[in-house]
Amino acid sequence: MSAGPMRVYRRCGKCGKKQEFINSGKFRVNANGNLIDVWLIFRCKKCKHTWNLSIYERVKISRIDPTEYDRFLQNDPGLAQEYGNDINFLKRNNAQFHL
Ligand SMILES: [Zn+2]
Repeated sequence: MSAGPMRVYRRCGKCGKKQEFINSGKFRVNANGNLIDVWLIFRCKKCKHTWNLSIYERVKISRIDPTEYDRFLQNDPGLAQEYGNDINFLKRNNAQFHL
């Protein structure tokens, strides 16, 4: 884990060009039956356009660590920071990033 926050970039649909996106520190959890989606929300630094980065997609609730699940629901700042600095998570979401 790096000390500082990762800088994350993508093309903003609203600005029409590449912008830095800031980790909002907020998770979005959607439950559909026993299937769960979890996203971490980033916002365009310039226009605040939201970008949801997928953490879990249609995963059975039984497969998610209950402690972690609680931390999603509580928008745990430490966990948001962990995901925001997780290279594999960022790559999966086609984010461009550097330290
Ligand atoms: Zn924008």
